[in-house]
Amino acid sequence: MRDVFEIRAQDAGGRVGDLHVPRADVTVETPALLPVVNPNVITVDPARFDEFGAEILITNSYIIKRDDDLAARAREEGLHDLLGFDGAIMTDSGSFQLSEYGEIDTDTEEILAFQHEIGSDIGTPVDIPTPPDVDRARAEDELRTTQERLELAEAVDVGDMLVNAPVQGSTYPDLREEAGAHAYATDLDVFPVGAAVPMMNDYRYDDVARAVAGAKRGLGADAPVHLFGAGHPMMFALAVALGCDLFDSAAYALYARDDRYLTVHGTEQLADLHHFPCSCPICTEHTPEDVRRMPDAAREELLAEHNLHVSFTELRRVKQAVRDGDLLELVEARAHAHPRTLDGYRALLDHAGQYEASDPASKDAFFYASAESARRPEVLRHRERLARLSPEGRVLLTEGPRHDGYDDCWRVTPPFGPYPRALSEVYPLTAETPVNMDREGYEAAAKGVARLAGEHPDAAFTLAHESWPADALDYVPPRVETLDLGEDLLTGPDGEA
Ligand SMILES: [Zn+2]
Repeated sequence: MRDVFEIRAQDAGGRVGDLHVPRADVTVETPALLPVVNPNVITVDPARFDEFGAEILITNSYIIKRDDDLAARAREEGLHDLLGFDGAIMTDSGSFQLSEYGEIDTDTEEILAFQHEIGSDIGTPVDIPTPPDVDRARAEDELRTTQERLELAEAVDVGDMLVNAPVQGSTYPDLREEAGAHAYATDLDVFPVGAAVPMMNDYRYDDVARAVAGAKRGLGADAPVHLFGAGHPMMFALAVALGCDLFDSAAYALYARDDRYLTVHGTEQLADLHHFPCSCPICTEHTPEDVRRMPDAAREELLAEHNLHVSFTELRRVKQAVRDGDLLELVEARAHAHPRTLDGYRALLDHAGQYEASDPASKDAFFYASAESARRPEVLRHRERLARLSPEGRVLLTEGPRHDGYDDCWRVTPPFGPYPRALSEVYPLTAETPVNMDREGYEAAAKGVARLAGEHPDAAFTLAHESWPADALDYVPPRVETLDLGEDLLTGPDGEA
C-alpha cells in the first residue's frame, strides 16, 4: 500500500483522493491541476495561484539548473521563495528538452540531487519520452533505458522528496502495461504517463486513452497517476475517468500568448469572440472587444487567468461528478461536444471490462444519454450478473405488464436486457432512458437476452418486446421465442390468452 495516496471516492476509473506531499507538508486533493511555471516567463504570478484553486505547481529544474543566476538563487532561497508559492512543487527533469533537442547535459543522479537541493517536493528522473508511432524495437529499447533510470533513481538519497516514476511505451498498450508494472514495483511514488503531449497536440484522445488504460493495467489501484502534459479542460473528465489523478497545464499560458481562449468544448480564437461564454471574473468584467484592445502583456495575462479559471472550474465539476457517481454522464456530455473526445470516450468503453472493476456497484442514477451509454461498464456488469441468476421453467421476459401464464415473469429493459422484477429498484436498472431508444440500446438488451439463454440451457425463454428493430433481434438466439407486443397477442404457454 502506498501511504502517500488515499482514495476517497471512485466512479468508473476516476477517483477523488488525497496526495500527501511530506516535504511541503501539504495534502493535495486529487484530481489536481498543476500550472506549469517557466521561471523565465511568468505569465501569472504563482503567488496568486490559490485564487484559482491550485495547491501544487510544476516547474522545470533543468531550466533552472542551466541558468547560473537562477540556479544560484534557487539554491540560496529555495524553490518556494524563488517562485513565491507555498503549496507543493513538482519539478521536471529535462526529459522534455531531451525529446525536443536530442540531448541534455545532466543525468538522473545529478538532476535528482539538484531537485532535492533546491527544495522540490516531487522530483523526476531523466526518462526517455518515446514519441508515438515509433517502431517497436525502439520503443522497447528506450523503455529499458527508462527502467534503468528508475532503478538508479531509487538509489539516490532524496530525503522525503517524492519521486516520479514515468511510464513510457509509446503507442504500444502492452509496453505501457509492462512499464506500469515495472514502475509500480519500484519504491518510487508518483506515476506519470509520459510522452502523451504529441498525441494530445494532435487531439489523438483515443491513443491517449489506450496508453493510459495500458499503464493502469500494470499499476496498482493505489498508484497516483499523472497524465503529463494534459492541460486542456476539454479532456479532464475523460482523463479522470481513465484513472488519472494529476494534470499539468502549460496550455493556460501558451494558448494565451497566441490569443487563444480555452473552453470545456475546445479552443476559441479571441478574434472570433463577440461574447465570453464564461462567468469567471475576467469574463464578467470585460468584453472580448475590451481585451482585444489591450496591450499584449495585459491581454496575455487576462487570457491566461481565464484559462486557469475555466480549467479549475472544470476540475471541480469533475470532482463533484466522481462523488455523485455521474462522471460518465459528464464524460459523455464532453465527448459529444468534440469528435476527438468522442474517439477518446469510445476507446475508454473498449476497456469497459477493465473499468468495471473500480466502478461502484450502486450510484444515484444511470442516464442513458447516447448510443455510447449502451457500452458503459454498468451494462457489462449487468450482463455478467445474468450468469449468477437462476431462472427456472418457462420464463417470460417482457417489456409489458406482468403475465401469469408462465413459471416466472421477468422484465426486460434496453440497454440492460432481462432481470427479475425484484431487481427493478436496484442500480443501474433504475436508469433514465429515452422514450425513443437507439439501435445500440436494443442490441445491448438483445445481447443480454442471449447471455441469459446461453447461461441457463434448462430454462425456456419467451421475449415479449415493444417492436425492437430486426438487427437487434438478430442477436436473440432461435431457442428464445419472440413476440412483438405491438402486433402479437401474448398467450400463455398452453395457448390460453
Ligand atoms: Zn472566463
